[in-house]
Amino acid sequence: MNNPAIEQKLDRMDRIPLANLPTPVYRLGNISKELGREIWIKRDDFTGAEMSGNKVRKLEFSIAQAKKEGADILITAGGIQSNHARATAAAAARLGFESHLVLSVSSAPKAEGNYLIDQLLGARITLLDESEGVTLSAKMEEIALGYREAGRKPYIIPVGASNGIGNFGYLNAVREIARQEEELGVTFDAIVCAAGSGGTYSGLYLGNRLFGLGRRIVGITVCDNKEYFQKVCGTIVDQTLSLLGEAPDEEKAFTFIDGYKGLGYAISKPDELSFIAHVAKTEGIILDPVYTGKAFYGLYRETAKGTFDSCERILFIHTGGQYGLFPKQDQISEVLAGV
Ligand SMILES: *Cc1c(COP(=O)(O)O)cnc(C)c1O
Repeated sequence: MNNPAIEQKLDRMDRIPLANLPTPVYRLGNISKELGREIWIKRDDFTGAEMSGNKVRKLEFSIAQAKKEGADILITAGGIQSNHARATAAAAARLGFESHLVLSVSSAPKAEGNYLIDQLLGARITLLDESEGVTLSAKMEEIALGYREAGRKPYIIPVGASNGIGNFGYLNAVREIARQEEELGVTFDAIVCAAGSGGTYSGLYLGNRLFGLGRRIVGITVCDNKEYFQKVCGTIVDQTLSLLGEAPDEEKAFTFIDGYKGLGYAISKPDELSFIAHVAKTEGIILDPVYTGKAFYGLYRETAKGTFDSCERILFIHTGGQYGLFPKQDQISEVLAGV
């Protein structure tokens, strides 16, 4: 950690504490034995229960900004089982905002998993079939306009809170990881996460760069591909640098690994679900089917293939998402029964 100027700026950012921090870091003894390499995990699924997972770290900054601007209603969007939308609705309820979620669907959804919790939390919900030509962002803008015309103060948080402001969440997490390395007396040669809307990766990458840690930051894509994330994360990183009053990053030396999104975003294959069951049996850890199940599967297989041979010790960030298992209970039962 050798950038006190950036640390000071980070400490001066508006922030509303929502996450239980620091989250635990420990070694996965049994998986490490299987792979012949030290695999560690950071439990960002422990940031909370209703406000669980990686999005809460970002929302601490996004919602602080909303409050500063005098907002009274938070608008955000995501898939029907969005962990981010659910965490936003929970934070809104706690902090006295209303919430309005735009959730993308292709058919009538059942009230289950995150979508059920959104309803319990009292979020207003607009379901949107994007194949009809309106994007989530356009719909959020339209809804915000309606509120403004009614004299309300809406604040739009983009999908995944993955923008320059939300990015401060994982920039801060890098400091937390560096402190934990010191306490534990270890260094992680690589830090690996799922890449979904790109914010978690961008924050880890930028923190690693600004604080001069020299770790390898690896994102395993669970939708789209490397080229897409190169662009998206490039934009987010430069937005954050601009908020810090720093020059854009000329390098954008990102590392993404494709090949593990399987059949597509939020669609599960039997081998992915079997892997989730394997990790559950081996380590007592429940991964989610949309992000961490695929990303940790990727890390596991790439480690076995030798991709991480130069890394003695690898840290995987468990970004949460377990409510997403429940809408897949039938498919999981089939896999467990070996059908
Ligand atoms: C959103 C999400 C991710 C992906 O993080 P991004 O910052 O969107 O790339 C990973 N895991 C879980 C559980 C998530 O909800």
